Amino acid sequence: TVRTRIAPSPTGDPHVGTAYIALFNLCFARAHGGEFILRIEDTDQLRSTPASERAILDSLRWLGLEWDEGPDIGGACGPYRQSERMEIYGEYALQLVKQGNAFVCYRTPEELEQLREQRKAAGNSTALKPSDLALPGEEVARRSDAGMPYVIRMMVPEGEGSCAVEDLLRGTIELDWSMVDAQILLKSDGMPTYHLANVVDDHLMGITHVLRGEEWINSAPKHLLLYQYFGWDLPVFCHLPLLRNPDKSKLSKRKNPTSILYYQRMGFLPEALLNYLGRMGWSMPDESEKFSLPQMLENFDIHRVSLGGPIFDVDKLRWLNGLWIREDLSQEQLAQRLVSWAYNADNLMQVLPHAQQRLETLSDFAPLAAFLVSGTLPITPASFAEVKGEPEDLIANMQFALWRLEAIREWDRDAVWEALKDLANARGYKIKDFLAPLFVAIAGSSASFSVVDSMAMIGPDMSRMRIRHAID
Ligand code: ATP
Ligand code: GLU
Repeated sequence: TVRTRIAPSPTGDPHVGTAYIALFNLCFARAHGGEFILRIEDTDQLRSTPASERAILDSLRWLGLEWDEGPDIGGACGPYRQSERMEIYGEYALQLVKQGNAFVCYRTPEELEQLREQRKAAGNSTALKPSDLALPGEEVARRSDAGMPYVIRMMVPEGEGSCAVEDLLRGTIELDWSMVDAQILLKSDGMPTYHLANVVDDHLMGITHVLRGEEWINSAPKHLLLYQYFGWDLPVFCHLPLLRNPDKSKLSKRKNPTSILYYQRMGFLPEALLNYLGRMGWSMPDESEKFSLPQMLENFDIHRVSLGGPIFDVDKLRWLNGLWIREDLSQEQLAQRLVSWAYNADNLMQVLPHAQQRLETLSDFAPLAAFLVSGTLPITPASFAEVKGEPEDLIANMQFALWRLEAIREWDRDAVWEALKDLANARGYKIKDFLAPLFVAIAGSSASFSVVDSMAMIGPDMSRMRIRHAID
């Protein structure tokens, strides 16, 4: 049976790209009567968080994407979280060392840097090869006796020539071996890298078709080698085109909201977002723009994927969402959606701790909560009338804040507060004055409650979008 998978790393907000790849994996599996698996690739323990994992699972479910096996529902090939499979990878790495397909490497970071410089000076690629990394036997023994840290790296071809990767949509892709380095498989702390864990798990989980983003094409030669070293059958590889900003660059949070949570908060319907993701590089046989998941499943054919970079255009998505609202929801259904979307217990309980002290009547609540249930706010230069300071300075401060906020990895109240306080100090402002224009950008007026709390509530993508909008 056909088995496909999505293998997200829980290192941030759930990405629309993950949902897009998941959708195509689900459709492909269903079109062949197969199974679709969800695996969490959390071997990067510094960056992975349980909150991110939960948000990814919740968002995919919200969109209506269901998996047959996964960390939350189990299955015959579990566990489905790589952090729970650590012993497995160590054994396979050892097997490769025993077979001579991998080697222990004691090189220090300084030596690696030097070796790369040497290769560069000789006009070679900086991909370090086994022969570059080799050390005399007695030096290895010395470092081993001294208990120095080591990694396990894979053997790779050193000579000329190229690796032929067969891709379901792209045909044969030739990649020069010269660009392929002796990849680390097991890090000095015993953790596997993506490449080892991914290949081992795809094999052990019986994955027959790997549909993933084209950003992984360059990794394919390493994966092919690993399959060969282990003597395992190759899955079919299919590299899907990446989503792009309207200016054709790779979709990135600097230009476009990329978090599914943003689209949820903005009030897009899951049906419409999923429909739009289905339009990314794929079309219905009759080219209709609006279709449901069941309709897509019924008509799915991977060969209808076109490789030109699909443009994720929020304006088109809005238009499509409007169609869904007008054509697919009765007024009763729309009423229900609005209530559960806006004034749900979750939203209310977030705002009430800040709002309750300020209420004299219940109607005072609407303006206080507006920031939470709005998308873009109607901001004009006049909105800043009550904020003191020259307009250029306010804009400059907001721009600096935006840059600083883009760098936050884990978005919460404290992280936002620290980032902004730090920046206010660095720019020589009192924190209150520095935050004043941000109140307007985020909540529409300076008479709101803490802008830092507000940003924590609406999340990184919505916060950045509003600040960007206020600057423009
Ligand atoms: P950004 O540049 O906005 O930080 P990123 O590439 O760093 O984005 P990641 O957090 O690395 O985003 O990616 C999360 C997931 O989303 C990965 O599985 C990745 O494959 C997928 N992804 C990221 N960008 C795209 C894209 N443009 N198209 C499709 N999938 C994408
Ligand atoms: N963990 C990888 C990611 O985050 C999976 C890539 C793959 O599908 O091989 O995208």
